[in-house]
Amino acid sequence: MRGGIYEAGADHGSSLLTIDLDAIASNYRFLAERTRPAVAAAAIKADAYGLGVGPVSQTLWAEGCRDFFVATLDEGIELRGLLPESRIAVLNGLIAGEPALFRKHSLMPALNDLGQVDDWRADCRENGAAPAVLHLDTGMSRLGLPPAERDALTQDPSRLDGIDMALIMSHLACADEPDETMSRRQRDDFAAALARLPGAPASLAASSGIFLGPDYLFDMVRPGVCLHGVNPRPGQPNPLRPVVRLQAKILQIRDVDTPQTVGYGATHRIAGPARLATLAAGYADGYLRSLSGRGTAHIGETAVPVVGRVSMDLITVDITRVPEARPGDMVDLIGPHHDVDALAKEAGTVGYEILTSLGRRYRRHYLGDGGGEVA
Ligand SMILES: *Cc1c(COP(=O)(O)O)cnc(C)c1O
Repeated sequence: MRGGIYEAGADHGSSLLTIDLDAIASNYRFLAERTRPAVAAAAIKADAYGLGVGPVSQTLWAEGCRDFFVATLDEGIELRGLLPESRIAVLNGLIAGEPALFRKHSLMPALNDLGQVDDWRADCRENGAAPAVLHLDTGMSRLGLPPAERDALTQDPSRLDGIDMALIMSHLACADEPDETMSRRQRDDFAAALARLPGAPASLAASSGIFLGPDYLFDMVRPGVCLHGVNPRPGQPNPLRPVVRLQAKILQIRDVDTPQTVGYGATHRIAGPARLATLAAGYADGYLRSLSGRGTAHIGETAVPVVGRVSMDLITVDITRVPEARPGDMVDLIGPHHDVDALAKEAGTVGYEILTSLGRRYRRHYLGDGGGEVA
């Protein structure tokens, strides 16, 4: 094992995204141990939260993860090519005309309403029982059988006959909030529905739900974002290892000694002598425009504030406190003194959005066994 993201080379030519696969492996082991005897699956939708589904899925497989959740059929087909032996559930569900594709690629659809239940059942009658995931909505009002359909099904469970029910799942709306009232209600509704349906493994908790306690674990947990290093318990210490370091290169440095403005809109005015550095990253790279005048970068341990607006390819930081900085040096946008969650807070968003926005322009460097270097 190498030294981790904080020793990643700063000697690269362009802005650099370092993804620590050993940290992902260690996060998976931590979660699997903590949730045993429940099975730890992995949610790796959206290209593994922007970090690269190839290296991330291989890393998780090597750690013993066998069950995966993706959002779309296309993501499922891609993952099937990467992990031929895995079990893959497609959360967005079964759309008319697609059962044949699910079968062809051995993918399990989430059955999100009674129409989908009926369609999969009809397909199973014709082509033999095949596994699927029944998704019950207990409070998201997004996907899954709404309460009325859930009740119709519990009154007539024979509608599931002929389907190989691999999992019955639901999803928590407020698992990351200190007030557990909503989670508890969802958990109890879910358990009540399970008791009235044919026996099948059950799953409720994603990253944050795992930390609500053993009542929430059922037979399988579906962590996503916390595997990728984001804190599942906002406001408390992160029990998982950071996975991402993002470094932007200093392109130019200028000393300002007369009053001047910085960037589009002239939103920042420099009053006295200051030193500014322009960095090679912008909103096209997922450094969100809402970080204008609010973001914090770091040179070593020293915080350097973003001044003026974030533009498409560039941001400007005030490095008055770091006189030794030079063009070509790397500045941490996400790093040891400022994690994904801290940056998300400044941007007024969540770590999920920061990770899934990371652009394709960064040179990507994978640390650890699962990857090898990918430029
Ligand atoms: C995204 C998702 C997950 C994973 O959620 P995290 O909060 O990233 O752990 C699990 N289950 C469902 C249904 C999801 O949509």
